[in-house]
Formats: sequence, structure tokens, C-alpha cells
Amino acid sequence: MRRMALLLTLAAGLSLMAGFNVPSLPLPTPPLPSQAQKAAEVLTKTGTKAMQAARPLSDAEEYYLGRAVAARLLARYPLYRDPEATLYVNQVGLTVARKSSRPHTFRGYHFAVLDSQEPNAFACPGGLILVTRGLLRMCATEDELAAVLAHEVAHVAHKDGVSSISQARWSEVLTTAGAEAARQYGGGVAGAVLNLFEGAVEDVIRTLVVTGYSRQAEEAADREAVSMLTRSGYQPGALAAVLGKMSGGSGGIFRTHPPTAERLARVRSVSRETAPGPKDRVRAERFQRVKF
Ligand SMILES: [Zn+2]
Repeated sequence: MRRMALLLTLAAGLSLMAGFNVPSLPLPTPPLPSQAQKAAEVLTKTGTKAMQAARPLSDAEEYYLGRAVAARLLARYPLYRDPEATLYVNQVGLTVARKSSRPHTFRGYHFAVLDSQEPNAFACPGGLILVTRGLLRMCATEDELAAVLAHEVAHVAHKDGVSSISQARWSEVLTTAGAEAARQYGGGVAGAVLNLFEGAVEDVIRTLVVTGYSRQAEEAADREAVSMLTRSGYQPGALAAVLGKMSGGSGGIFRTHPPTAERLARVRSVSRETAPGPKDRVRAERFQRVKF
């Protein structure tokens, strides 16, 4: 049962060490076996039976996976380094996230803007949400911005990214865990573990960038987004408004989120217009000040 936890913790640990050059701790006497060796022992002792009862990732594992996904996306899309715009997107994003079905993740929700004209948004597991300037520019009001962010928060809350890790990958975890893996990968079990972790990251990236989530996942995210908007005092109709602008586009978010008439109709049917509240003027003014 704990094997995946170990795999991901180890993988995260290894990548952290590679990235930040963590100094090695002095070895106690007698010296402990290396991390990889320890992993191999645990892995070979645990039977396949335990693995079949796969448990969901822990919140910490989900966070490390999401961070690796975000790093990969940031290699493809540069960050928009505008502190005001970034702070503002975080303010709005956190306002709706607090009203989601999952207001707290391991390290919380964080929003960043990508310097790209391609309208797109990515919900990395654990709560790192990346939105392009191209998509932000399609938003005419703070309510529409809140709608876009709420939809992405819902994907995190529902763990849609994590669910896209292929079944084949989990089977791979089962079969490569033993001593065979050590021979096959040369780098030993630690190497195999890293490959599996990379594979899981690839699965999530493919879903975020190329294939998109299932239609059911999109429907659920739309539904929850409307609820988040309502509960945080935004116009729930803003989601339909921003979706309406997406028809006819191609590439980016249009590829992963085809805005069907059916989807739009469903969103419209669940979002009733509300009277403007006292917050609206403040929100309208600050929206005007930010440059995307
Ligand atoms: Zn979506």
C-alpha cells in the first residue's frame, strides 16, 4: 500500500537534490545502505497483492507531481514577470478557491501568468494554476477572470490531472518494482523510480496540453465554477460569457476545451443572474488598472 508513496517521495527527493544541491548528511556508523538500496529492499519485500489495492496519492505527493508538471510547462511558456498582474490574479484566484469543494491543498493554491498570446490555462496537480496573457485578455471583467480561474481550481479540487496518469503507468509501477527493474534500468531501482515519476509527469502534461480532460470532468468543473462564483459574490453568468467568446478559436485552450453549444447551454441553465453587489465597483476599478 505504501509503495507508491515511497516511489514518489524518493523521486521527489532525488529531483530536489539534483536541483538545489542539498549537502549530504554525515553517515552514522554502521553506514546506512544507500537510499536506492533501501528502496529496493522495501520494494522486493512487499508483495504484488499490496500494489493491486492502489491508494490515491497523498496531498504531498500530488504537490511534488504538480510542481514537476509546472516546471515542464514553464520551460515551454515563459513567465509574465509583472508583480501587479500576478498579485491581482492570485487575489481573485484565492477568493474563488476558498469557496471550492477543496479550499486547502498541501501548499495551497498559487496562480501565475504565462507570457503567451495563445489563450490557455493549466491546472497542475496540487494547486499551481498557470494562465496565459492571451486568455486573460479575453476576459472583459473581473467576474470573467474569476470564472476562468474557478474552472481551473475545480480541476485541481477534483484531482482531474492526477486521474490522467495512465493505468498502464500504474501497471508499470507493479512490474518494474522488483529486482528485474534494477537490471533493466541500469541505474538500479532509484533510476526506475525516477523513470516512473517522469512518466507520470508526462501523462499529466499530455492531458493538460494535448488531449484535455473527459467531457464529464469538464461538466463537473463548470458546475463547480458556477457555484464558486455565486458563493464568492461574482456574477455566475460570467462563465457562460467567457465560454461564449471561445467558440470558433483553434489551438491552445480551444483544443483541450471544445466549447460545444451543449456545454454553453448547460452552463447557462445553472447560472442565474444576480443583482450587482457593493463589491462590484471595487472589482471593476481594480480590473481596469491591471495590464495583461
Ligand atoms: Zn477544463
